[in-house]
Amino acid sequence: MIVIKTPAEIDRMRAAGAIAAEVREQLAMAARPGVTTAELDRLAETSIRRLGGRPGFKGLYGFPASLCISLNREIVHGVPGDRALVAGDLVSMDIGVVYRGFCADTALTVAVGDAPPETNRLIETTEAALADAIEVCRAGNRLGDIGAAVERRASLAGFSVVRDFGGHGIGRKMHEEPWVANFGAPGTGPELVPGMTLALEPMLNAGGSAVRAVDSGGWSVIVTADGSLSAHFEHTVAVTDGAALVLTARGAA
Ligand code: MG
Repeated sequence: MIVIKTPAEIDRMRAAGAIAAEVREQLAMAARPGVTTAELDRLAETSIRRLGGRPGFKGLYGFPASLCISLNREIVHGVPGDRALVAGDLVSMDIGVVYRGFCADTALTVAVGDAPPETNRLIETTEAALADAIEVCRAGNRLGDIGAAVERRASLAGFSVVRDFGGHGIGRKMHEEPWVANFGAPGTGPELVPGMTLALEPMLNAGGSAVRAVDSGGWSVIVTADGSLSAHFEHTVAVTDGAALVLTARGAA
């Protein structure tokens, strides 16, 4: 069942989203050569708590950290550890926040130091795919329009979309219905109506779309099957009568 939120509930999600946005900005600045992924995780947790929230991923399905950090061929669900970033790394950071009973979910991917042009092109295309998804996330459109927009952006650039993972409804729970595929046919699926709140999250691979799971201390990290790079961007949005409200935009609260 898709839970429709009241304007007051959306305001509360926006407050959670403002915390996530602030932390995302800090992480973007901090992802430099020499810093370890565990240090980024500590930064995220400290910032979330200082801003009054709690890390939404810590303990969720047993995840051991506050931040999912996925490097290079890792797509999502990477676990922070003692790996230090080096120039040229592609780093995806996924941040979940719970604040006063409501959730926000946002992610970004950055290149560390000087990265090859193809790395930057993958990152820029994935961010553009998220913008496309937000653009079509409007009342009267359908869920399939979102996936179609992401897929179109990816294929025009010669990249593939991850098909086994995607976005989701969000609200009092981090993961609610519906599942939001990053592929699909325009005009198909449930109609988007005001009050729907969705985490839109394109994941694009430089190579093929196939994925596999790799064990990391009992936790499954999702990687590209062909070892190619993967990038990930995410915003939590609310459907309105007009353009979608980006609840994890900086300064949204
Ligand atoms: Mg998400």
